[in-house]
Amino acid sequence: MFSVTILGNNSAVPAYERFPTSQLVSLNGNKFLIDCGEGTQMQLMRFKIRYSRISHVFISHLHGDHYFGLIGLINSFGLLNRQQDLHIYGPAPLKEIIEMQLQVASTRLPFLLQIHTINSPGILVETAEFKISCFPTDHRIECYGFLFQEKELPRKLAAQRPKPRSYAYCADTRYDERILPFVEGADLLYHESTYLHDQFEKAELRFHATAKQAATFAKKANVNRLLLGHFSSQYEHIQAFEEEAREVFSASENALQGVTYLV
Ligand SMILES: [Zn+2]
Ligand SMILES: [Zn+2]
Repeated sequence: MFSVTILGNNSAVPAYERFPTSQLVSLNGNKFLIDCGEGTQMQLMRFKIRYSRISHVFISHLHGDHYFGLIGLINSFGLLNRQQDLHIYGPAPLKEIIEMQLQVASTRLPFLLQIHTINSPGILVETAEFKISCFPTDHRIECYGFLFQEKELPRKLAAQRPKPRSYAYCADTRYDERILPFVEGADLLYHESTYLHDQFEKAELRFHATAKQAATFAKKANVNRLLLGHFSSQYEHIQAFEEEAREVFSASENALQGVTYLV
């Protein structure tokens, strides 16, 4: 089983029942959280996800809509008497921010919290079955995307699984072809589409992308399917995003909250 469940698909402020960014990746029984916007815990509960099993959290960048739910999640894990180590990956100064939040509240966690600072592209987690790596995106502040890849199995076992699959999460970014080599050929690509293309100038100025740009990127990256998300709060309805993207890349769909997409 290799899938991604959308917990939040909105940008900036919560709006129209859409929460800020968060996704849960399930891979061979492991659970990984990508970004942790405000309300992530509520969404995990709402969708009945057993989130005590989350072992790693990957934070793309330090805009609030991607990590303001993190300290709450860590605190809850403590109150629930979690014992398993928790690994968090994110750019500086995430480690200092979290440690200060814990320190001023005199919080003592019953589990080992390991915060790893990301400052360049490379492999973050690697096992015999899969690897997780990060790559820079083109955003207003330092920001990373994440690539989840199954590894080639030994020939004897490979017969049970056609080919290694991969999921690429492109975080917040402007349209930038320098990112293509990192996500080339992914089975499933998430690319932000904060705006529709009639607002591409605004998107460019704010270091975001449009649905049309996301689709163009997906096509050039030669991926199988595209998920759109990080919708601006100015849009009450999001159907137009999918429609705009499909004109360029037919295998495009909106990332919907509570829906699990197989990779
Ligand atoms: Zn954002
Ligand atoms: Zn951002």
